[in-house]
Amino acid sequence: MEYVNSLIDLIGNTPLLRLGRTLDLPSGDTQAGPLVLAKVEYLNPGGSVKDRIATRMIEAAEASGALQPGGTIVEPTSGNTGVGLAMVAQQKGYKCVFVCPDKVSEDKRNVLKAYGAEVVVCPTAVPPEHPDSYYNVSDRLASQPGAWKPDQYSNPNNPRSHYEDTGPEIWRQTEGRITHFVAGVGTGGTISGIGRYLKEQNPDIQVIGADPAGSVYSGGTGRPYLVEGVGEDFWPETYDRGVADRIIEVSDADSFAFTRRLAREEALLVGGSSGMAAYAAKQLAHELAAAGRTDAVIVVLLPDSGRGYLTKVFNDAWLAQYGFPTGGETPSQTVGEV
Ligand code: PMP
Repeated sequence: MEYVNSLIDLIGNTPLLRLGRTLDLPSGDTQAGPLVLAKVEYLNPGGSVKDRIATRMIEAAEASGALQPGGTIVEPTSGNTGVGLAMVAQQKGYKCVFVCPDKVSEDKRNVLKAYGAEVVVCPTAVPPEHPDSYYNVSDRLASQPGAWKPDQYSNPNNPRSHYEDTGPEIWRQTEGRITHFVAGVGTGGTISGIGRYLKEQNPDIQVIGADPAGSVYSGGTGRPYLVEGVGEDFWPETYDRGVADRIIEVSDADSFAFTRRLAREEALLVGGSSGMAAYAAKQLAHELAAAGRTDAVIVVLLPDSGRGYLTKVFNDAWLAQYGFPTGGETPSQTVGEV
């Protein structure tokens, strides 16, 4: 019989999917190189790449004694990391408390509660030094006896999980033929861990970060952008500033239009940060094709599913409200020439 004993055993070993039509390669022939392979992370059991770091951070805290049996995991997150932590905590018998600002949608809070986690909602309209602020409440909860805060922005086990698992998977799946790796940058854990591993195998592999226009990684100051999960207004400890050979800046409009194309033309229902990364990979593929590098093998990591963004990226009224195209255009009009 083929089965696993815990959902945790289903984390990782996600497949690579070849992108076709959406690449608009000049010949119009999707069999012509470069090869662009998407690492489909929404196939993890919690629905995102963050399942990987959740397991690794929890296991390391168990090993170090920072997290004791019956302990409580406290993290200020409402996103994918929260889902991964809630899922692993449920399987391992820990309590989970997530702190989030009141602007976080009820849907997102309900996902965490569905796994049995507790969600503490803090008012956005108070200054950071206020006792009820998001920062103060999470610090207070994390200082209780038995509590442990993973802190994905400074926890070395975040990039380590990608160095030890995701990087080797990509190397094995491409039989060492990968030439370029593309990923969005949030905490930087994904690009730093995978990038370091791949460069150790072959220093010629190019590591490319995709970043929303305005974020620090592409030289901005943190100007607001709408794509979620990527870009920062500070430099996290989990980001290795030496790992990326290049950063490709992508606008919200291009990220969202390409996210929608992935669903309609490749049946890949993914989130906006996936659209952003895949758009950067497409731009790179065009550059390489123009340079005659049809033998290039580009792997782009797609972090999560589009299910969590149905009222945003996939909603015409939401897009129109920000002046973005809503579809109906021909693909080349939607994404512009690259
Ligand atoms: N996309 C989404 C949807 C995410 O939640 C994250 C994590 N913040 C990322 C991309 C970026 O991954 P990393 O934090 O490893 O840089």
